[in-house]
Amino acid sequence: MKTPHSESPVSRRAFLGQLSAAAALLAAPIRSRASDAPPRRKLGVALVGLGRYSTYQLGPALRKTALCRLSGVVTGDRVKGEKWARDYGFPEANIFGYDSMERMAGNRDIDVIYVVTPNSVHAENCIAAAKAGKHVICEKPMATSVADCDSIISACRDAGVRLTVGYRLHYEPHHAEFARLARERVFGPFMRMAGANGFEMGSSSRARTDWRLDRRLAGGGPLMDMGVYVVQAACMAKAEAAPVSVTARFGPVTLPEVFSEVEESIEWTMEFADGAQARCRASYAEQVSNFRAEADHGWAQLEDPAFYYEEPFLTTSRGSVERPKVNHQVVQLDGMAAELLEGRPSLAPGEMGRRDMAIVEAIYAAARSRGRVDVRA
Ligand code: NAD
Repeated sequence: MKTPHSESPVSRRAFLGQLSAAAALLAAPIRSRASDAPPRRKLGVALVGLGRYSTYQLGPALRKTALCRLSGVVTGDRVKGEKWARDYGFPEANIFGYDSMERMAGNRDIDVIYVVTPNSVHAENCIAAAKAGKHVICEKPMATSVADCDSIISACRDAGVRLTVGYRLHYEPHHAEFARLARERVFGPFMRMAGANGFEMGSSSRARTDWRLDRRLAGGGPLMDMGVYVVQAACMAKAEAAPVSVTARFGPVTLPEVFSEVEESIEWTMEFADGAQARCRASYAEQVSNFRAEADHGWAQLEDPAFYYEEPFLTTSRGSVERPKVNHQVVQLDGMAAELLEGRPSLAPGEMGRRDMAIVEAIYAAARSRGRVDVRA
């Protein structure tokens, strides 16, 4: 059985061309005339959605970033927005509602709009951000369908703005080293991979209220939320190649009152063109976070917690790899700001988010059909 898919409306070359053009447009007003002079101001970032990730990670990170700062918010709660304005020192004029994002077009403090809402709302928010002429960062997963990813990519292309996905681990030094080992085939091509990511949702108080258990808002269960990291690691281990096919099966439902709309756990295998395989698992019933890749001449392992905010440990067949401990969100935000300012392609472009959504759709189709499904990434 094949998964439904639609062709990406944007070629990679065209997209990279747009990135350069957009970066040039962006760089012009914020650089001084001397080309080697430092930027006159940091890039202004507006957060869309002031929930947990914005409140406890992205907002605090934007106090520490060197190249960008928080300059506005989009929220349905004006009073909350006013508190953020006071706390972060931006004018109340930079508080917007979800239905008035088009007014951001005229706001010179805001260069980048960062969408941090529930998964199924990303498309509408990102399209509004692009229409306002601002660069877009979209949290993971990029959307809840490939079709929505295509709509976001098209809107950003039409507006001539850059689209990146909030894949913080592409900017984290241990994961970057893992990517280098894969890209340069230091141990040969990775052929046998295994990884898992999950946390115990069912027993927590969150289980009663979290949108992650609402299919309409989340698009799926732990595969959408935690599994995307394992999909990412497997593609990273194959130098960003997508698998050609997948097989999958849903795990048992032990808490039917909690997991009535989304899966409690899921296992899948990604099969790559060169015969490599990645056996993966995502779960809301298990605290787990690791990834291991083996090649003919060595192996590399991102130790638990491989995908959480804590410092991951990278061990290889040559020993443990020491890299600086960083705040993931700070290096991600500064990394993305530097890419924009310097006109470099992003490590986490919209096409990557779309690729991962194509893989996720194929995994769900395989789990439902209990068959092998081709991936059209
Ligand atoms: P949250 O529930 O804490 O916050 C979501 C916010 O969106 C709330 O402020 C809510 O009011 C707002 N919202 C806007 N439109 C909404 C709508 N139509 N329905 C419901 N709420 C709406 O969620 P969160 O944990 O902050 O997650 C937000 C996004 O960030 C998700 O896509 C999630 O996957 C992603 N995330 C990424 C990471 C990471 O490490 N990159 C970590 C956590 C969350």
